[in-house]
Amino acid sequence: MDTPRTAQCTTASFPDDDHFHDECGVFGVYNHPDASALTALGLHALQHRGQEAAGIVSYGGKHFHSHRALGSVGDNFNSGEVIERLEGPMAIGHVRYSTSGGTLMRNVQPLFADLVFGGFAIAHNGNLTNARTCRRELVEEGCIFQSTSDTETILHRIATSEYRKVLDRLTDALCGVEGAYSLVALTRQKLIGVRDPAGVRPLVIGKIGDDGHVLASETCALDIIGAEYVRDVEPGEIVIFSKEGMKSLKPFAKQKSRFCIFEYIYFARPDSVIEGRNVYEVRKNIGAELARESHVDADMIVPVPDSGVPAAIGYAQESGIQFDLGIIRSHYMGRTFIQPSDAIRHLGVKLKHNANRAWIKGKRLVLVDDSIVRGTTSVKIVEMMRNAGAKEVHMRISSPPTTHPCFYGIDTPDKEKLMAHNMTVDEMAKHIGVDSLAFISHDGLYRAVGETGRNAECPQYCDACFTGEYPLPLVDKEGDPGPEQLTLLSED
Ligand code: AMP
Repeated sequence: MDTPRTAQCTTASFPDDDHFHDECGVFGVYNHPDASALTALGLHALQHRGQEAAGIVSYGGKHFHSHRALGSVGDNFNSGEVIERLEGPMAIGHVRYSTSGGTLMRNVQPLFADLVFGGFAIAHNGNLTNARTCRRELVEEGCIFQSTSDTETILHRIATSEYRKVLDRLTDALCGVEGAYSLVALTRQKLIGVRDPAGVRPLVIGKIGDDGHVLASETCALDIIGAEYVRDVEPGEIVIFSKEGMKSLKPFAKQKSRFCIFEYIYFARPDSVIEGRNVYEVRKNIGAELARESHVDADMIVPVPDSGVPAAIGYAQESGIQFDLGIIRSHYMGRTFIQPSDAIRHLGVKLKHNANRAWIKGKRLVLVDDSIVRGTTSVKIVEMMRNAGAKEVHMRISSPPTTHPCFYGIDTPDKEKLMAHNMTVDEMAKHIGVDSLAFISHDGLYRAVGETGRNAECPQYCDACFTGEYPLPLVDKEGDPGPEQLTLLSED
């Protein structure tokens, strides 16, 4: 680093509001003539990580170009004109998923700023847990925030850093933030990728053509453009692609890696390989573990599509009970989760799933789903199975009970709205209306990802949503981040 800086590594945490929630996918290309087109394709493959907004920023040698919009990648990057305008051999992109409120154009990423060293674009997957505290400090110093996104704190910290070089500024900025981040950033000369020291969110490196490099949240986004998987960005690593090739820095204090186990259970795409493990295989393993842990005599294993399918296959193979599609899903509805109100969410479940009556009537079913969050989906699905004439309905869940919210980038409701926070498993079974209900055990889940069990002293993964053990400090939440700074909550 070239000059010292006064900034201390503060710890504060995450607000109990909706404004900072983000659950996203990131992508970047260095040195390819079709960088923006490849980025649009990559974002298509990452669409499951966020459907509310999408954006691409490219650098064409003289200028940066940006296209950001609310809605899906397909809706916004479907014209040759848009892609042509996003010229240049370097580009980064982002898909965003946020909770109710806060879906504002100014929050759509990548964020871009003209800084003292030139243009800088950044896209972020994860959540900073001291964003609000940082923001207050920065606003007191005179920074003018344009968005309500936690990512902007990183941008301002880079802008106000006393270091000279971009990488030193970035490192300095990141030393002052807490929480989960997988970042891609673009300067005039460099594509940069960073994973937080605990490596909570995924980020992988790929290669395309002779000299092209790619960064992506998941390997499925490399596959779509025919890029070759090189390796995962390591926790706490900064990778830089420039004329000099690829460089790697490890500037942060070493920390135990705590990858998010929920990425394996639900969030990532099943065809992705994360940290050397195929997500589909992990999900099947969980299903097999579930079958061993909580076997029940039944006629048919029925997945709740789509997220319950791999675990249901694993359950069926292990138990020897027939697997069948007793529920058919319409693919023309979004995920139930993205509907803003409980009432609409209920309706969404009906629109999304339908009982395959002819197969269900008179059968003893084991329904397999990946998680119970609010419980809305389960209540509706079970009612649907009963109405279709099922004789018995047993439910098996391929995650432990979700008892705590996530502050690191997975959208979960407040504790009070989590069914498993408010009820025991028996109470949940009664409420949902099933003959029996079982969740995978903590150790069973860890076995499914290749461990011998959960290391209680030092868990191998972040499983805070199931245990309440948060590996990264919840600074804003536990501290006093000061009054709400975000006042412009809607815009045209
Ligand atoms: P619920 O009706 O709230 O219990 O929702 C449970 C369903 O939502 C599960 O079957 C999952 O497929 C899905 N789900 C779980 N977690 C999330 C999440 N963070 N974002 C979107 N969908 C989720």
